[in-house]
Amino acid sequence: MSGGMSIDFGGDAGAPTPAAVERGAGGPPQHSSLLILGSGPAGLTAAIYAARAQLAPRVLAGYAPGGQLMLTSEVENFPGFPEGIDGPELMTQMRKQAERFGAVMVDQDVDRVDFKVRPFHVSSAGREYTADAVIVATGASAIWLGLESETRLRGRGVSSCATCDGFFFKGQEVAVIGGGDTAFEEALFLTRFATKVHLIHRRDTFRASKIMIERAEAHPLIEIHVNREVTEVIGEKSTEALVLRDTIGGGTERLAVGGLFVAIGHRPNTALLGGVIPSDENGYLQIEGDGTTASAIDGVFIAGDVHDHRYRQAVTAAGDGCRAAIDAERWLAEHAAGAR
Ligand SMILES: Cc1cc2nc3c(=O)[nH]c(=O)nc-3n(C[C@H](O)[C@H](O)[C@H](O)COP(=O)(O)OP(=O)(O)OC[C@H]3O[C@@H](n4cnc5c(N)ncnc54)[C@H](O)[C@@H]3O)c2cc1C
Repeated sequence: MSGGMSIDFGGDAGAPTPAAVERGAGGPPQHSSLLILGSGPAGLTAAIYAARAQLAPRVLAGYAPGGQLMLTSEVENFPGFPEGIDGPELMTQMRKQAERFGAVMVDQDVDRVDFKVRPFHVSSAGREYTADAVIVATGASAIWLGLESETRLRGRGVSSCATCDGFFFKGQEVAVIGGGDTAFEEALFLTRFATKVHLIHRRDTFRASKIMIERAEAHPLIEIHVNREVTEVIGEKSTEALVLRDTIGGGTERLAVGGLFVAIGHRPNTALLGGVIPSDENGYLQIEGDGTTASAIDGVFIAGDVHDHRYRQAVTAAGDGCRAAIDAERWLAEHAAGAR
């Protein structure tokens, strides 16, 4: 041990193998020095770094192996791909890269965790896992309006990320839904590409800051529609128009747009944690360590969109995953050298 306090992790210290995972159903807990929860860019980058550090991490990949990028066909801003890359292709490559160095993937959701005991306990699909350290990289999900037409046209004009997709709407009219700072930021950002941006809000008061509202109101390319809600997205193969309902008068109108950006919020995926890691008022997990990825629980680290509501990009999530793996590796070296 290289110093710091000593913790008795107990558990089986053997490195996991895929075969061991298969035998785990209903049997004794499967132990890893490091468990990574989530397999988006944050989780898989953490897995690459941890696997190359000989930690043989086990990744509980969750209900959406590969994470949010599995939902998009074109990623043009991930460094290293001058022609862009298909989201699922990028994530498949990341997964292969992690597996190449010995990361074990388990395509299961985590149901609950117990971070009060050492080693930590994680329950997933009737199986029990233990770990000396854990990285939580369970991401966040965009909140959608809940319309059938919106779901059908996702990726075909309907998006939840202007930074990611705004570039595809050069020369078109687009709409942004929402009344908070994010909606105003997205509307202002989209003026770089769109010929006109319609900002649609179901009330006539906004949660956004005064400065953002003033900027949008003063912008020649932004038209603000208050007391309007979208009841349908029209289009077969791509988005062509929206049906807007007047929330006061009740009438409807058609607004022709090629893109719809839904900016009514994101929900971090934290239900599995049962509130054991402190979060902010919107549920995003809080980092405790100064400039690190450490949570309030010693040995539990946080990476990606489950914490980061500001940048929400694949490359920043991947960067966080790298940081969390390095933090976990150093923490394990200090506290759990005897357990591996
Ligand atoms: C349509 C779309 C297009 C996008 N385009 C771009 C783009 O072009 N460029 C860009 O940089 N960013 C883009 N983004 C944003 C980017 O995808 C995210 O910022 C990034 O994926 C966040 O990575 P993450 O690893 O933190 O989380 P996520 O990608 O959200 O992954 C979360 C992971 O956690 C797992 N999980 C959740 N709950 C559990 C559980 N209970 N147990 C176990 N696992 C769990 C999920 O299965 C998933 O694997 C886009 C997002 C969307 C939705």
